[in-house]
Amino acid sequence: MKSISTRIWHLGAGGDQDEQAIREAAAMLREGGTVAFPTETVYGLGADARNTEAVADIFRAKGRPSDNPLIVHVAAISQLEELLEPWSELAGQLMKRFWPGPLTLVLPARAGAVSPLVTAGLDTLGVRMPRHETALRLIAAAGCPVAGPSANRSGRPSPTAAAHVADDLAGAISGIVDDGPAGVGLESTVVELVPGGGDGGREAIRILRPGGVSAQELREVGEVLEDSGWDPGKQAPRSPGMKYRHYAPQGRLTVVAGDAERVTAHIRRELAEASRNGLRTGVLTYEEHKGLFEADLVAVCGSLNDLETAARGLYAALRAFDAQQIESIWAEACPVEGIGAALMNRLLKAASGHIDQV
Ligand code: AMP
Ligand code: MG
Repeated sequence: MKSISTRIWHLGAGGDQDEQAIREAAAMLREGGTVAFPTETVYGLGADARNTEAVADIFRAKGRPSDNPLIVHVAAISQLEELLEPWSELAGQLMKRFWPGPLTLVLPARAGAVSPLVTAGLDTLGVRMPRHETALRLIAAAGCPVAGPSANRSGRPSPTAAAHVADDLAGAISGIVDDGPAGVGLESTVVELVPGGGDGGREAIRILRPGGVSAQELREVGEVLEDSGWDPGKQAPRSPGMKYRHYAPQGRLTVVAGDAERVTAHIRRELAEASRNGLRTGVLTYEEHKGLFEADLVAVCGSLNDLETAARGLYAALRAFDAQQIESIWAEACPVEGIGAALMNRLLKAASGHIDQV
């Protein structure tokens, strides 16, 4: 692909300078450019959702399969009126409870409102309002709905820092707004609504991808049909993105689950054997367990006692294995409650479903 020059704005100076940077980045979006920006989940790669050429540039830069639709980001609910068919009461309640925030709603789209590339030909549209001041200011200043998948090469771990975006996409996109690390560290929860799917014929919520909003939190608003997600083998893909290998480091990754002591013993055995075979080895573990392993790289994603930290650190840890050319990696499973469900979902996808149950 032909290389273009990628403009980078470093925010944080405050006041006028940041304001000017956001104005320039917004103008770039309006003029059909592709601009990466921070959100509270991961960095997104934005383009005007109505502009087919700009959206095509997203797919090209990421190497993203064209049947995997993009989430559209808005800064105000009023922006949705021209994008969606009138939405249900439950959809409205979810917006009210979780927006701005890491929840994507897949809802019936208004025909022709965005480029057909955005929806990959589906008659639904995934929409969300990010809880990140810079993202909201940028989208509002651009004045258009912003299509924004994660700003990584397709298949790679999502970017949680501007440097990750530059590693994957410098020379392939128009700009990067650098505003420090992203928040949650994992992508948004994607849900669809199922009319008549719940008790008493009420509309229900179905999770297509677990993420920053947990099933438990969703249950405060409506019935959740199934707590899908962390086991990709359990069901056929209902969201196009679910069928692709994702988040993967270059080395072979295996998730190890089960009783804590057996997990440790298993990983130690596997590491010893791999290194006898001359492989560069890695372990993905937690603060509390890092002393238990010897490997070429022991990467800590966060604390087992605070899985939010592990969610924030996961993708950077996966990228660290690539930076050190690690060939064989074992990852400790985590409890699947709250954000742990999303964490295990990403780990298993990164491992292409390879799991040692011990
Ligand atoms: P990402 O590009 O990493 O933000 O992922 C976006 C996710 O949302 C992918 O898994 C998509 O398949 C899913 N998605 C986006 N739009 C739709 C839609 N209209 N219907 C179902 N899934 C969608
Ligand atoms: Mg992605």
